[in-house]
Amino acid sequence: MRVFMVLLALLALPCQGLEVAPKHWWVGMQNTDVQLLLHAPNTAQRQWQLRPYDGVKLMRQHHLDSDNYQFLSVHIGAQARPGTLQFVADDGTQFDYQLKARAHNSKQRQGFSSDDVIYLINPDRFANGNVHNDNHPSMIEKVDRQARDGRRGGDLQGITERLDYLQRMGFTQLWLTPVRENNMATGSYHGYAMTNLYAIDPRMGGNEAYFDMVAQAAERGIGVIMDMVPNHIGVNHPWVADKPSRDWINNGGEFLANNHRRQTVMDPHSSVYDRTRFNDAWFVPAMPDLNQRVDELSTYLIQHSIWWIEQAGLSGIRVDTNSYSDKAFMARWSQAIMAEYPNFSIVGEEWTTNPGIIAYWQRGKHNQDGFSTGINSMMDFPLQAALVKALNEEPGWHTGWVRVYQSLGNDFMYANADDLLVFADNHDMSRIYTQLGQSVNKTKLAMTLMLTIRGIPQVYYGTEVLLDNTPSDAHGDIRIEFPGGFNGHQADAITGQGLSAEQTQMQGYLRTLLQLRKQHSALRQGRMVHFAPKDNVYLYARIDNEQRIMVILNKGGEQHLELAPYAEILQGAKQAKNLLSGEVLRLNQTLAIGAEQAMILALQ
Ligand code: CA
Repeated sequence: MRVFMVLLALLALPCQGLEVAPKHWWVGMQNTDVQLLLHAPNTAQRQWQLRPYDGVKLMRQHHLDSDNYQFLSVHIGAQARPGTLQFVADDGTQFDYQLKARAHNSKQRQGFSSDDVIYLINPDRFANGNVHNDNHPSMIEKVDRQARDGRRGGDLQGITERLDYLQRMGFTQLWLTPVRENNMATGSYHGYAMTNLYAIDPRMGGNEAYFDMVAQAAERGIGVIMDMVPNHIGVNHPWVADKPSRDWINNGGEFLANNHRRQTVMDPHSSVYDRTRFNDAWFVPAMPDLNQRVDELSTYLIQHSIWWIEQAGLSGIRVDTNSYSDKAFMARWSQAIMAEYPNFSIVGEEWTTNPGIIAYWQRGKHNQDGFSTGINSMMDFPLQAALVKALNEEPGWHTGWVRVYQSLGNDFMYANADDLLVFADNHDMSRIYTQLGQSVNKTKLAMTLMLTIRGIPQVYYGTEVLLDNTPSDAHGDIRIEFPGGFNGHQADAITGQGLSAEQTQMQGYLRTLLQLRKQHSALRQGRMVHFAPKDNVYLYARIDNEQRIMVILNKGGEQHLELAPYAEILQGAKQAKNLLSGEVLRLNQTLAIGAEQAMILALQ
């Protein structure tokens, strides 16, 4: 017996080269099935057995076209306890698999909402907390601070070290552009060409630095939103050279230029040709397009998203290029996540100024074709475009603030406009200060609107210190280094050292707006009433049971505003406190507002 045990132990060698995804799983999940993807040369030939474990069963093992991948379907019953599963193959190979206990209250975690303000960071360009991880022997691209699209060395430690600043400013959520491994030859700093979906890039600090950052953010009341890219991977991902199935990557694994005709998804007249050229074509040759119609791939993508939420403690997901993925998959993916975390939040990117197309993708929308998803939030690109035009144009019947008035008037199309993400700019377009011709006053008006209307505000890093990409609109210049984040900077946005008077003033102004939003429930959740703009003035109110707050935005010269049209908001209020200045104003027949000024009035 003893000899047999020794023999068995010798035979049952742990397989060094075997990769297993997900890396581990949990007991007590809503979905009691998990699919393990094994990756090793010729592993598909193996027959696996699971050593007896209460409540857990190996239901099925199979492979697709490649012999180097194998799928194990495992059922984890409700009675299963945390512990270690042991899988043994007929050739003696074995591996251990951890089943962990879930964190307390994991299922009920709260996603982001209009109570939050999101700070968007390009981590490579924000702050270099550890110069020793700038390069990594197994990562192709090395740091190059002179190259526009080069890596600068920013990392997760740099963000963690600046969490106190973000908390002081009043941000409550962080959205980082992707930080997972991008082992690409060029342009890897942007992060959207992932080469390992389960690993944080070592140049960002690896998985432990990510978990540490999320935990430290949570201590400061700040949640973390992960940028997910279900549509594509980087061309250096192992799936490209060795596909688990022949159809794993769209268009036979060959590049086909995308037509970017996003309307084909819901257009009742769209041709198969156009639809295919949108959904199955690739973004760029470096980013192969995933075929989420392959059930095993779809399951992999769902599980890896849940793995990061559960393991890292995320409060939200931002979905890159939302509409480019297979739409049935997007429904399955988002609904599977929301089934595990009913209060979670997902925000989708759909870059169009057509609100009908954006509305189609939001949870709760009753679409003519019956399509629905679990995605509760979408980015309000129409409002962003309207805002820039509003501030740059002369007022007219269709121009100036009317743009914003009409854009918000389209809210009737959305299932829930309060859950839209509102933003003046992001990492894919010129900075708002640049788009507004380097006008500090217009930038203040833009940020006042963003932080006082319905929706979930998102602020792009560095807006508070007027970062500028004039005259370039290249991505590498938009994603400029945050002042003080890197060696050799003269200015530091956190200590304030070396900032211009205008930068300091803008930072203070934005902090004030963030604090006002935090202090006044009406600004976060109140219903909105707005009035057709009069020349250069746009006026609206946010109202809840606690407060009535009137916001006046004047992009022209000094005005004396007749108050009579606003009686339904004023309700006879005799005075108001301007929350921006602290000044208490008598409300008579007219109200004076200075040139290019905003007022946020708490009616008393
Ligand atoms: Ca670094």
